[in-house]
Amino acid sequence: MPDFDLAIVGAGPAGMAAARVAADAGLSVTLLDEQPRAGGQIYRDVERAAEVRGTILGPDFTKGVALARGLHHPNITHISGATVWQIEDRTRVAFTADGKASLTTGKRLLIATGALERPMPVPGWTLPGVMTVGAAQILLKQSGMVFEDAVLCGTGPLLYLVTAQMCRAGIPPRALVETQSMADVFSSARYGLGAMRGWRMLAKGLGLLAEIRKAGVKRYTGVSAIAIEGRDRAEAVRFVSGGREHRLASGTVLLHHGVVPNTQTARSMGLPHAWHEQQRAFVPEKDCWGRTPVREVFIAGDGAGIGGADAAVTAGRISALAIACDLGALSEAERDRHARNLHRKLRGEMAARPFIDRAYPPYAEALSPADGTIVCRCEEVTAGDIRRYARLGCLGPNQAKAFGRAGMGPCQGRYCGLTVTELLSGENGQTPDETGYFRIRPPIKPVTLQELASLARKHSNNDDKEAAE
Ligand SMILES: Cc1cc2nc3c(=O)[nH]c(=O)nc-3n(C[C@H](O)[C@H](O)[C@H](O)COP(=O)(O)OP(=O)(O)OC[C@H]3O[C@@H](n4cnc5c(N)ncnc54)[C@H](O)[C@@H]3O)c2cc1C
Repeated sequence: MPDFDLAIVGAGPAGMAAARVAADAGLSVTLLDEQPRAGGQIYRDVERAAEVRGTILGPDFTKGVALARGLHHPNITHISGATVWQIEDRTRVAFTADGKASLTTGKRLLIATGALERPMPVPGWTLPGVMTVGAAQILLKQSGMVFEDAVLCGTGPLLYLVTAQMCRAGIPPRALVETQSMADVFSSARYGLGAMRGWRMLAKGLGLLAEIRKAGVKRYTGVSAIAIEGRDRAEAVRFVSGGREHRLASGTVLLHHGVVPNTQTARSMGLPHAWHEQQRAFVPEKDCWGRTPVREVFIAGDGAGIGGADAAVTAGRISALAIACDLGALSEAERDRHARNLHRKLRGEMAARPFIDRAYPPYAEALSPADGTIVCRCEEVTAGDIRRYARLGCLGPNQAKAFGRAGMGPCQGRYCGLTVTELLSGENGQTPDETGYFRIRPPIKPVTLQELASLARKHSNNDDKEAAE
């Protein structure tokens, strides 16, 4: 007998919104997230952080307070600090919290595991002092920490948002080193009509750029040949811009070139995925309700394809309506009536995406790094190694594991997976769909033997109790 009507993995905008809609419809919901507090990536720790540094983080952050407060509902059991490491029998979730492993089951499962920053493998990116822009933002949100004299490198809206937040905190970065060019921005113009439908997002972007300009942050665009120098830690960034070589001394280099769906959970369940050419990432198969080919399993938010926080909220609500209908809490007519506006809203929220994807493409030299650059940090496998495996006959990422352990470390290929696919596709002249991705096996997140043993003990205690009754 399932413990709950609905189990949700991920307490970001999609998971929080879905939990509340399902709970309001009368379903019992369990919401699991590895973070100590609800919010996901964008609204991380929002109930606490909005009070202490809401002005720096801005209204797009503080609006998450309402979503997090929505979880205070008698039908919702939010288990924080719960790392999900396996899903079996479609909806049975194994997780670790407080050092102990447990199982919980829903009649339905919603995967809302969000996005990951796309790794940016450039020479020197593994040196201490080099981090992702998102990681720096996490420090700002959770601990109020800002790096002095940082250089931000890459492309995309998050780069501007974090720069503006640093400026508001009174510690602007030393420079913004951007890889997109004017040609990228012009080529996105044909998506202008769609972008106009997402005009709010564009207006926000222009507002951030105005803040950055006002703070006097130097910007370099159309940049190539990025390399981070340093012996034991980052000391400087070198790059070419406007036909000239530049060198900026800095001990903190923050990298970012977009986010990609975090598909590890969906992959570990064997759900089918397809390559999304504009977002250069794999996305899971789903219908307009977020239902996957496995009937009991739904997926919503950035984990189903990058759309941003507002789209994640709307998609979460749509999935929750479908789940409530599945379980008899809403009629089909009620589901459709509530969903009509949400589907329209979602189309509007997604309208700006093709424009953004085209205007801020991932940095080409990080999609196909130089031979000497490490791509799998866990096992220290370089791009040159992967190319060599291809020349020896390696066709896909799973074989690359056998050739040289790429993707076999604790992150289970979460960070190198897409790079390995891109490198093998390039070398073998195959599409990413033909090349495929790592077969993700449980545990999808590291779990200790002690934690596993606690699960076995719990089960044998329960079995003893049942036998005695
Ligand atoms: C580092 C980073 C920073 C970002 N900052 C911003 C920003 O400031 N502004 C903005 O507009 N957009 C930002 N984005 C994009 C933003 O994350 C998304 O648009 C939005 O948060 C998507 O919502 P979601 O609910 O789909 O997923 P998320 O908000 O990503 O939430 C997913 C949740 O799932 C949890 N999770 C994942 N795997 C597991 C597991 N195995 N076990 C337990 N829990 C798990 C995570 O802890 C997370 O809380 C950021 C993205 C990243 C990667």
